[in-house]
Amino acid sequence: MHYDLIIKNGNCVLPWGQYETGIGVIKGRIQSLSVQSSDDAEKIIDAKGLYVLPGLMDCHVHFREPGNAMIETIETGTRAAAMGGLTTVFDMPNTNPPTAEKEMIIWKQERARETSWVNFGFYVGATRENTQNLSKLETMRGVCGIKVYAGSSTGSLMVEDDQSLENIMRYGHRRVCYHAEDEYRLQTRKKLFCEGMPYENHRLWRDEECAFLGTRRIIKLARKTGRPAHILHTTTQEELEWLVDYKDIATVEVLGNHLTQIAPECYERLGGLAVMNPPIRDKRHYDACWRGIENGVVDIVSSDHAPHDPEAKAKPWLCCPSGMLGVQTLVPLMLNHVNEGRLSLGRLVDLMASNPARIYGMPTKGRIQVGYDADFTLVDMKTNRRITNDWIVSPAGWTPYDQMEVTGWPVATIVKGKIVMQDNEICGKPDGDLVDFLP
Ligand SMILES: [Zn+2]
Repeated sequence: MHYDLIIKNGNCVLPWGQYETGIGVIKGRIQSLSVQSSDDAEKIIDAKGLYVLPGLMDCHVHFREPGNAMIETIETGTRAAAMGGLTTVFDMPNTNPPTAEKEMIIWKQERARETSWVNFGFYVGATRENTQNLSKLETMRGVCGIKVYAGSSTGSLMVEDDQSLENIMRYGHRRVCYHAEDEYRLQTRKKLFCEGMPYENHRLWRDEECAFLGTRRIIKLARKTGRPAHILHTTTQEELEWLVDYKDIATVEVLGNHLTQIAPECYERLGGLAVMNPPIRDKRHYDACWRGIENGVVDIVSSDHAPHDPEAKAKPWLCCPSGMLGVQTLVPLMLNHVNEGRLSLGRLVDLMASNPARIYGMPTKGRIQVGYDADFTLVDMKTNRRITNDWIVSPAGWTPYDQMEVTGWPVATIVKGKIVMQDNEICGKPDGDLVDFLP
């Protein structure tokens, strides 16, 4: 048998267990899970000693295009994703102008087709003006779902009141993803703080109740309308314990940052670089996030890659923008957590491949099976490396994990049968495509 690509001798993480076997790929799809030694291919990768995972996905990134090419574009962001072992990313709509109308969706589709290195999906932002069009907009090619900013946004993307939120839920049927911090409580509490206070106040302003109250309001409306809700970047013990009783209607995302950093230490060490929304919280919440990974209440782990100019991040608190880079470091961080015994490689695949495919509706992604897309992340679980700012390919050029030593590293990124990254080198040209979702 002749294949386009054979990955041989790898320890393959299949849905039914881990096996050392050879994978044969033809025309971007998995053709065989039992390649014979007599078979040949245009390209053969010897994955001896490596794990072959279904292509890992980051369902929450902000690539700033259109808007600010000095900070990030679809080209640079997806190159960073490929460097970091990701085969698929979903881009958020708070660009300038926002991705909320048909014209901007078409623009993004074309831009992604021309410049993306990996599989690309993107959200449509819900506004009061586009609510009645959402059921049409959500089915345009490449659209992974609806993003709702119920708190913490500006301009037309902010939809904070119950009636408008309920209206959004009543149009369409695809996944609706929420930034759920309660805007009213955020605004009331902001008056308690002032410019120049220590960065750690970020988590006191945006306290546990901001997050928990927002999540309770959304889930109540989701129950009322019957429209499932995906709660983005869940951070508190209160939310994670409460959501256990709503798994029939709620799916849950936790970020790599909240599984890796702890307050107040992170604010003392990183200053404004540690500022993000929802904030990094203390050890009680960090432990709760890990319990959610262990007990299954968490469905997805993402980066919320939100790059900013390092000079803007150096400004005093309340003036410095919220968000950190993360798309390139998410897989190394999570592999390090696997090596430190916090989760299994199987659970990582569940959180970053199988569950995204299930929740967003990608019928041929997220698992290594015959007939599925040939998206793979090859990882070396024994390699020790230091994450450094100069490794970061995003124009913003920094990471909150600068100088961190990790064990476990992505050594190849394969997108629909094409090698996009191997041994820390980008290969070929940007040839990614829009992701197809269930109607
Ligand atoms: Zn975000």
